[in-house]
Amino acid sequence: MNPVAAAPLLRVENLVKHFPVEKGLFGRGDAVVHAVDGLSFELAAGDTMALVGESGCGKSTAGRLVLRLLEATSGTVWFDGEDLMRLSPSAMRARRRSLQMIFQDPYSSLNPRMTVEQTLTEPLALHGLARGKHRERAAELLDLVGLAPQYLQRYPHEFSGGQRQRIGIARALAVEPRLIVCDEPVSALDVSIQAQVVNLMQDLQRRLGLSYIFIAHDLAVVKHISSHVAVMYLGQIVEYADKKSLFAQPRHPYTQALLSAIPLPEPGARHDRVVLQGDVPNPINPPTGCRFHTRCPYAQTRCAEEVPALTPDHEKGHSVACHFWRDIAVAAPAALNTSPAPNARLQALQAAFLPRPLAVSA
Ligand code: SF4
Repeated sequence: MNPVAAAPLLRVENLVKHFPVEKGLFGRGDAVVHAVDGLSFELAAGDTMALVGESGCGKSTAGRLVLRLLEATSGTVWFDGEDLMRLSPSAMRARRRSLQMIFQDPYSSLNPRMTVEQTLTEPLALHGLARGKHRERAAELLDLVGLAPQYLQRYPHEFSGGQRQRIGIARALAVEPRLIVCDEPVSALDVSIQAQVVNLMQDLQRRLGLSYIFIAHDLAVVKHISSHVAVMYLGQIVEYADKKSLFAQPRHPYTQALLSAIPLPEPGARHDRVVLQGDVPNPINPPTGCRFHTRCPYAQTRCAEEVPALTPDHEKGHSVACHFWRDIAVAAPAALNTSPAPNARLQALQAAFLPRPLAVSA
């Protein structure tokens, strides 16, 4: 295989972002929020990688760090063989043409005082593109996202939520990017509109060869659009796999809990839902060892003492950060088949797997 052809479009290495906490009246000034703590992943050209996890897990911060909309505390982001962290501000501005973002809220991400034409031609002027043909290019972009060119003179308030998100996508496409970070792009939309926008994004990916980092908490949408999935918990990736492998055989207990919350399409059908106890710990003072141990139904003494590395299983391309994932995976299928009620699955798994559970206060 040609190693140059196989090189990923994006490689993120040990990315860290710590936000300093403001000094309180009696507080110390050296506290930090561990928003992102040692993130590493790769993305091939034309692929979609989903970053999923509960709110506050650091997935949106990670997306902004990749685009250098936020400066990282440490770590490296290689894009197309270039270290973005070492680029000067002017070089980064030029590079930004290849790296765009679609925001969550189509209502606030568009300037209410600008017409659609002004919104779409602003990035063209900024990057010196389509000189003398701005209007034609704006009409072309609208057509690309399924909107009629006669909308060019309208303002954002004249559109529905789905139409506004299409305009947001058209704005991102104006500079012909290669990578788009999509930060919860459909979570503010009605379910029926969500499907239309996701289908549009897939169609654009095929036509334009785009790569996406798709940030979401809705795993049903992730299952539809992504090729790979990274599950984040408290600033770290706890499981990474291709979509098929992750949804068929989730290995980390946190991923298992997230997947058990996906609604089933059949009327009346329900999962044996794994309900996690307790809240997400404070990111200013994350737990030692495995960060999930304060909520994990399988936690043992070792979990509070030793950080589990994200270990790849080269055969299946599936990585997981858990000391006991093999035992959990072995225990899971039998217990799953016999559970008669929500959370019985959890109890059965605990009984099958845990002789000495770690005592944890909820
Ligand atoms: Fe649970 Fe321990 Fe695995 Fe962490 S390492 S997920 S606490 S079993």
